[in-house]
Amino acid sequence: MTAKPNIAVIGTGGTIAGKGEAVVNTAAYLCSVLGIDEILESIPDAAALANLRAEQLLQTGSENFGNEHLLAIGKRVAQLLAQPDIDGVVITHGTDTIEETAYFLHLTLKSTKPVVVVGAMRPPSAMSSDASLNLYDALAVAAHPSSHGNGTLVVANSEIHTARDVMKGNSFKLEAFRSPYGPLGYVIEGRPHFYRRPSRAHTVETPWSIDTLVALPKVDIVYGYGALGSNVVDFIGSGAHGLIYAGTGNGNVAAHLLEPLRRLAERGVLIVRASRTGNGIVLRNGSQPDDEYGWLTVDDQNPLKARLLLTLALTQHSDARALQQVFARY
Ligand code: GLU
Repeated sequence: MTAKPNIAVIGTGGTIAGKGEAVVNTAAYLCSVLGIDEILESIPDAAALANLRAEQLLQTGSENFGNEHLLAIGKRVAQLLAQPDIDGVVITHGTDTIEETAYFLHLTLKSTKPVVVVGAMRPPSAMSSDASLNLYDALAVAAHPSSHGNGTLVVANSEIHTARDVMKGNSFKLEAFRSPYGPLGYVIEGRPHFYRRPSRAHTVETPWSIDTLVALPKVDIVYGYGALGSNVVDFIGSGAHGLIYAGTGNGNVAAHLLEPLRRLAERGVLIVRASRTGNGIVLRNGSQPDDEYGWLTVDDQNPLKARLLLTLALTQHSDARALQQVFARY
């Protein structure tokens, strides 16, 4: 019989650590109150999958996570992955921003060991909570050899998603997570089934290492709409190194916002045209003359993913051509 894998479990809070007053409280409850040991106690069957080593790193809603939280989580995960007797890491996390933390780890960890970020849409105290099954599934994925080399994964609702693509697309339903090209696979009865692999570069193939990252440059997002005031664009862009403009449709920019965005670009703020649809390609020099304005465009990254990618890219490049290539590679 082969030895069981050793999986480190990091608690950070969220609904998976939440508690409601009554079983009917599926949406109104306190978040981030159960410790990671308590959460794991509710799934004794997980002991058959792996030897678990739990630790509480944070205990807060993921809506509070800034760049410093991402760095802290990443550095701790990297320390654990570097230990020869650790085979994988599971992070329990609020679902609100799981897609951002997971993508940050996907781009900065230097290991092929599985890292799985997991949350729940209903607290463990609620009727038909997804907390214990999601966590059991996440442990099963982290413990399985087929998960190696796939970068950071998000497990929810019996699906395995790549961190690059996954996004939260519903505020309360159990099937809240989707990837534009579908999940990588399913998990059922404690076993992952993969059908696809991530094709864009990640983890060991990226130039960013969590071990050497210290402070991250400020990149902000502006959500575009026709009534948006140019003063808002000026204000948000003025303190940033980069600005993701989440335009309508194919990254369209309202006529009265061209001037403030061009002014920001002239002052050295990197403007990236993205789409507020959260899906599809933004065509360079399509709806705007990006070359003329000195703007960048995303490939298919939604504004949240684009913010993280540009943040990391700016730690190494200032040249617009090199920065543009980053969107095509990751
Ligand atoms: N505040 C929570 C968070 O950490 C709520 C969402 C959840 O975990 O489902 O994101």
